[in-house]
Order: sequence, then C-alpha cells, then structure tokens
Amino acid sequence: MKSSNAPRLLAREEWIAACHFHDITEAEVLHAVADRVRELKAKAGSVQSGHPLVLLDLDSTLYEVGPRSFEIIREWMDTEESLGHSRVRHALESLREEQVGYSMKDTFESIGLKAGTPEVDHALKVLKEFWAARFFSNQYLPYDRPYPGAAEFARRLHEAGAEIVYLTGRDAPRMGEGTVDNLVRDGFPWDKKGTHLLLKSDFNIPDLDHKKNAADYIRQHGTLVASFENEPPNLIALSELFPEAMHVFLDTVCSDHPAPVGKNLYRINGFHKLAP
Ligand SMILES: [Mg+2]
Repeated sequence: MKSSNAPRLLAREEWIAACHFHDITEAEVLHAVADRVRELKAKAGSVQSGHPLVLLDLDSTLYEVGPRSFEIIREWMDTEESLGHSRVRHALESLREEQVGYSMKDTFESIGLKAGTPEVDHALKVLKEFWAARFFSNQYLPYDRPYPGAAEFARRLHEAGAEIVYLTGRDAPRMGEGTVDNLVRDGFPWDKKGTHLLLKSDFNIPDLDHKKNAADYIRQHGTLVASFENEPPNLIALSELFPEAMHVFLDTVCSDHPAPVGKNLYRINGFHKLAP
C-alpha cells in the first residue's frame, strides 16, 4: 500500500504544472543570480566558506545536444542495418535537427513514428543501440552547441567572483577530453582559479547519485548560490540539499523520469536575455 507520506512524483508537463516557480522573467532570474554572487563575494572577503559557487549542468542546460544525436541518426541512415526499415528510413529522411527530442522515442514521435508496431519498435531498438554506442563518447561531443548566451553568462558569474562548478552526468573515461575541448572552444570559464569540472568516474554510476554525492565537494569549496539543471529529479535533489540556494530549471528537453513536486524554484528557457 502506498504511504500517504510518499512524495507526489510527476514527469515533464505535469511536474512543471505542479511545481512552484517564482513568477519572474528569465532576465530577472539571471540578474538575481549574478547579484547574489556579488553580494556574497563582497561579504565573504577571503573566507573560503563564503565563496559564492554556482553549479551548471552541461547536457541540455549549457549545451544543446540535439545536433549530437542528429549526426548519429544521420550515420545510421548510411548503414546496411537501416535498409531493412524502409518506413522508418523514409520518415527519418525529412527529420530536422530541431525535431530531435530527449530520447529516440521522443524523436520518433516528433515525426509521427509511434511505438507499438513491430517495424517501429524494432527500428527503435536497433537505433537506440547504435546511438548509445556513440552518444556517450568524446568523438561525438564536437557536434554539441552551447545555447546562446550560456558561455557569456558563465563568464560574467566567474568575473563577479563565483566559483563555477560544471556538474555533469558525463563520465571521465569516455567523455572527459571532449568536454574540456568544448568548454575551451566555446569560451566558458575553464582552466583558471575558481573553475571545477565534476564528471562521473565511471559510466555506470547513476547520474542522480553523482549529483547528490557532489554536495560534500560543494560545501568544501564555498556557499552554493544557484544551480542550473534541465532534469527534474536532479534539480529537486539539489534543492533539498541546498534549500537556501536558487535552483533554476532549464526548460529545454528532459527525460520522463518522475520527480517530486518542488517549490521555491525558478524556470528559464535559456540565457539569451541577460542585459549588460
Ligand atoms: Mg542535463
């Protein structure tokens, strides 16, 4: 029997509708984070524990990963394996990059390929395997694109005195090198005092565990001002660990993993509205 104390778990649109987000604009959210960084920096002086720190997730928070999946789908279309799936191939031929969703199932649905028929289900299975063998690798990271304004926002926070912590579910062995290459390529604060990259040491560590385990590291390095995340379960976990910080949901794409309903959250679509 379900306990009445069990948190209400919802996914995607239902989760968004049930959460409490502050009714302020994207620009106001971004300015509020920068202001808090400056205020804390001014107060903290040289005291380590007072250092303002901002957590930034990478995939679908700072980086649009649709182009990475799009390239992998394009390569699958060149394989012999794909030839046996004529209906799916035909639909994928007209796939546009902006139709790539969070999962392959989402992408299929965006072009009218509904799961439930043997051909679609089989194509989904083989394409997911093809995708998974490539998506989580350095080789395909160059296809990622930073969202407009993301690098500039991170630079401004860093210049204002924030420690920048990139907290990602990517793993060091397979994706560490490409992750650093992209941060450098795209002008994010990197390789200077006050920048940190927390990758998983092993692919098999669940993302949520990795993000919760980062709490000790965060506390050792300063005071969390804000976190930015596109995954509801991660955002809620961080908001419960650090209730005094601002927790900002990036409403880009997310998984259908259910999360507890949150309150005192912020919601933005991107970073492009930050005024000077
Ligand atoms: Mg993410």
